Amino acid sequence: MTATLIDGKARAAALRAEVATGVAAFTAQHGRAPGLTVVLVGDDPASAVYVGSKGKATREAGMISGEHRLPASTSEAELLALVASLNADPAVDGILVQMPLPKHINSDRVIAAIDPAKDVDGLHPINTGLLVSGRKGLVPCTPSGCMMLIREAMGDISGAEAVVIGRSILVGKPMAALLTNASATVILAHSRTRDLAAHVARADIVVAAVGIPGMVKGDWIKPGACVIDVGINRIDAGGGKGRLVGDVDFDGAVTRAGWITPVPGGVGPMTIACLLANTLAAAHARAGG
Ligand code: NDP
Repeated sequence: MTATLIDGKARAAALRAEVATGVAAFTAQHGRAPGLTVVLVGDDPASAVYVGSKGKATREAGMISGEHRLPASTSEAELLALVASLNADPAVDGILVQMPLPKHINSDRVIAAIDPAKDVDGLHPINTGLLVSGRKGLVPCTPSGCMMLIREAMGDISGAEAVVIGRSILVGKPMAALLTNASATVILAHSRTRDLAAHVARADIVVAAVGIPGMVKGDWIKPGACVIDVGINRIDAGGGKGRLVGDVDFDGAVTRAGWITPVPGGVGPMTIACLLANTLAAAHARAGG
């Protein structure tokens, strides 16, 4: 058997087109386009690339893209003052502070300072609490994108067994909450989990968000399972060239799974598309719609 490849690129393109249509309607109704502002502190090259592509996608969706690039020497107080001014700016619907922040800044304090109604990364404790209690709020983008891919592949997942590997606040924990809210039975695995292979072998849905290339072995996968690989790991392909691989041994898993996401082209493209969707949703909520 060979798994059906889940085409995250195509799904993300469709979502971005849907968002663009929604943005045009919002703009016609409210006389202004939704606005997303991204804040980058320091000069981490990977973060600079992410911020650039978020800005481009925002503009392509017809939204107003704001960008603040601050030096690494920016103090926490200065960053908090900027967040406060963005909170107060009626043209800004979404605020995203790019992580990681320089070590002298407490990222928890910065996230908590963002207006929860503008927290399009879904990391504010209020949004985390709403997600866990199964209420409407802004949901972190990567798990939200994974959930769309799972639903599209499997439809109703009520009663399905799911294993999420990785318990970060950004991916693993919100993923487990989303699956629980969709009535799956969820195991949230991490570095202290005993016999991960046995948990994976029972799972109808496997979400791997670890950051270790190929750590989920193909022969662990239950035949027919839906495998969502969040991992993005650059391995040296020689000659100074890097190759992106996921956390799942793709070649092994593809012969057993029912559905599987490739890396790249699976989960990755969904993240920015969901960020745009969150910004439009935040704009509607703020406009009272
Ligand atoms: P973190 O480093 O924050 O979390 C990794 C998690 O993996 C931790 O909970 C850790 O457990 C767990 N872990 C580590 N080793 C093992 C092991 N041997 N067995 C089981 N669990 C283990 O990573 P993120 O959640 O931020 O990211 C995970 C991966 O997803 C990365 O490759 C990242 O690049 C990628 N990513 C991709 C995105 C996308 O858009 N596609 C977006 C965000 C992330 P413990 O808590 O016990 O330490």
